[in-house]
Formats: sequence, structure tokens, C-alpha cells
Amino acid sequence: MMADQINTATHPLIGTIISSDDDAMRCALVLARVAFDAGEVPVGAVIVADNKIIGVGANAPITSLDPTCHAEVVAIRDAAKRLGNYRLNDTTLYVTVEPCSMCAGAIVHSRVGRLVYGTTEPKAGVALSAEQFFEKPFLNRIVLVDGGILADECSSIMTEFFALRRAGKKRLKEQLKTGD
Ligand SMILES: [Zn+2]
Repeated sequence: MMADQINTATHPLIGTIISSDDDAMRCALVLARVAFDAGEVPVGAVIVADNKIIGVGANAPITSLDPTCHAEVVAIRDAAKRLGNYRLNDTTLYVTVEPCSMCAGAIVHSRVGRLVYGTTEPKAGVALSAEQFFEKPFLNRIVLVDGGILADECSSIMTEFFALRRAGKKRLKEQLKTGD
């Protein structure tokens, strides 16, 4: 499993020129597929500064034995290291799925200027669905938020993943019943 994890230091998407939100989200989808192939919930993220990718992340809490390894956090760490700066001012973070509360906090603390997500996450998403975190008055930073970029693609890889996982669990139950 570990071999499927991305080495963000040498990832080929670093430096890719981005000319639209769709462009960036397509790259985030490549990283969602990396997570998928590693058996992780397929979420991918990229961070863009001056129209170039400076950070990449694939969701990896299981393979890295680190519950904080969501795609957004991995991409933030990668970008900060690459920039040599703990502040990611004037960057845009693209993520295939609406962020959770942990990632929303990390986005604010890293000073990402703009968040762009693909599909919504009705249960745990806090940009729009379960909560509107970025509108909270206690935040001292404004993060611009846009959602729904390539939403269909971002959502269908999630659907594909959970369908496969359900099928796998069903198969396992049947094997246990028949004693295979
Ligand atoms: Zn998260």
C-alpha cells in the first residue's frame, strides 16, 4: 500500500501551468485517482500560485497512519515546504470535495486566499453543506470560496469508490457465510 502514496517532492504535476479553474480541478482529479488506487477515499487537491501548481495532495490517512492526512492538508504542507514559507498568501487551493472542519481550519491558518472545490459533501462539508465555516465572524482572514467546479467528475469518482467498497464488503460477508 505504501508504494501507492505520492512523493510530493517529485510529483510531475508540480510546476504545471494552470489557465483556468477547470484546468486545476482536472489535476486535483488526477490526485483523487491516486488516492482511489491506494484504497483511500478519493479526494485530491492542488495549490496554485502565479498560475502554477506549487503543492499537491492525495487523501492518505489510512496508508500514512495519520488521520490528519486529508488531501488539503497534504497539499498545504507540500506547498509551504516548497515555498519555504508557512504562509500561503495569494494562493488558491483546489480540492475535489468540499472540505471538512479540520481542513477548513487548516486553510484559514495557512492563509490560502481562495478555495475552489468540486462536489459538495452533504454530511461533513463545512464550506456550504453542514456549516458555512468561512463566513464565521471570529475568523480574521477572508477566504474566497467557489464550489461546483467539475462537480460531476469529482462526485462520480466518489460514487465509484463507495460502490466498490460496498460490493467488497458484501462479497466478504458471503464468503464468511459459506466458509470460503
Ligand atoms: Zn478534511
